[in-house]
Amino acid sequence: MKYILALDQGTTSSRAILFDQHGQNIATAQKEFKQHYPQSGWVEHDADEIWSSQISVASEVLARTQLSTANIAAIGITNQRETVIVWDRHTGKPICNAIVWQDRRTASFCEQLVADGHEAAFKQKTGLRLDPYFSGTKIRWIIDNIKDARKRADAGDLMCGTVDTWLIYNLSGRTLHVTDSTNASRTLLYNIHTKQWDADLLSILNIPQSMLPEVKPSSDVYGMTSGTHLGNPLPIAGIAGDQQAALFGQMCTTPGMIKSTYGTGCFMLVNTGDTAITSNNNLLTTIAWEINGQTTYALEGSIFIGGAVVQWLRDGLGLIKSAPEIESLATSVPNTGGLYLVPAFAGLGAPYWDPYARGIMIGISRGTTSAHIARAALEAIAYQVDDVMHAMATDADIDIPEMRVDGGACANNLLMQFQADLLGIPVIRPKVQETTALGAAYLAGLAVGYWKNQNEIAGQWAIDRTFEPTISPAQANTYRAGWQKAVSRSRNWDQSS
Ligand code: ADP
Repeated sequence: MKYILALDQGTTSSRAILFDQHGQNIATAQKEFKQHYPQSGWVEHDADEIWSSQISVASEVLARTQLSTANIAAIGITNQRETVIVWDRHTGKPICNAIVWQDRRTASFCEQLVADGHEAAFKQKTGLRLDPYFSGTKIRWIIDNIKDARKRADAGDLMCGTVDTWLIYNLSGRTLHVTDSTNASRTLLYNIHTKQWDADLLSILNIPQSMLPEVKPSSDVYGMTSGTHLGNPLPIAGIAGDQQAALFGQMCTTPGMIKSTYGTGCFMLVNTGDTAITSNNNLLTTIAWEINGQTTYALEGSIFIGGAVVQWLRDGLGLIKSAPEIESLATSVPNTGGLYLVPAFAGLGAPYWDPYARGIMIGISRGTTSAHIARAALEAIAYQVDDVMHAMATDADIDIPEMRVDGGACANNLLMQFQADLLGIPVIRPKVQETTALGAAYLAGLAVGYWKNQNEIAGQWAIDRTFEPTISPAQANTYRAGWQKAVSRSRNWDQSS
């Protein structure tokens, strides 16, 4: 028997999962690693710890199943996106900590770029906003702020990459310097239409192209592991950023297919086929994957606070002891009694992008109880997803027939039912919910012929439960109008940030 080894390098932990030919999870190993917060708004990881935690879980999962590399057909990699690492080309040593996607240190630089009139060019070429979230300004920060980095960068002595690149560089014994187009499309440096590093954007950010990896398809044999880490050399054959991998793992492979991941935040991607649609509603345009010379695009909306509002009820308010408990508390009342909770704890993400919004509860009456708050918290997750869905439908002008869901909070039946009610389309929860790692495994397996084609894989996707809408569109509109009013009250609140 042969398996695919998926390496899922996330923001808080590194995981390794073995999948069999039916797409079933055979074994998982996971290791958390340290988060570094050197200053307010800064988030860093130790790049060596990213690597050591990832390689140790890969070894662990093989040891635990008593499998050797002879039993592995290929390795697929999926990763936290946008996080960047810069290292010395000669020693392979990082020159500083990785700057993580959440890090806001380049906010003023981004504002300066906007003031200098560069926003339109970046949006047109990369599909992204000039926001510190993306990799480009983080690389520039490192070049400007780490001792001698500018000199070494200009001399060609430094390499950089997102986490996929860093892992493959190390897995290959420092011989491969590659990424895939999904990760490249999150850097602010990659033209998603011409599929090349963009000379103009590199020049605006003053980043030498010699630092950047070669961009490859998402499903391709990039090279072999060096044989020093896991045993005999293995093909490294799939790469995708985590949200794109989840879209593929959910088999959202035709235009209009959409997935929503309900984790700490919510991430929604809709497949737009071979068209890169420019958003007029504050969504991002991104590459979903590149397979067999064909590029598939997606529109993306990120919501900062999803399941995190449930954590706030648990840890901040103490209304529940565990996240799943919210469902019984919320179900103990038939509705919110007119209460709305807007969890703009860190501003609002898509489609508002309002850093000055702050959380509010509104519509509180003498009869409001903790159960109403619990229900309003769950509904708030669904309302935010509904907002993004409307932005997507408007931008893409395509029929979205259903929504596939994954992530921790999709276990909540009340939330999923309310989501279907609001959207007016079925919400479908699959049996396998580790869609991120599965997507990476699929990409790798396709490249080495472990699976013949996408049709074979699509047959493996199976439904756990479908939630059908139960209210009329008019009723949904009434709910939505209340939500919109509440959102308008939350906006433009914190003038200090
Ligand atoms: P991440 O990958 O972002 O760490 P997960 O996919 O593991 O997130 O999901 C964890 C999130 O889901 C937490 O924010 C938690 O509050 C929420 N969550 C977990 N179970 C439930 C539940 N039954 N109902 C609502 N929220 C839940």
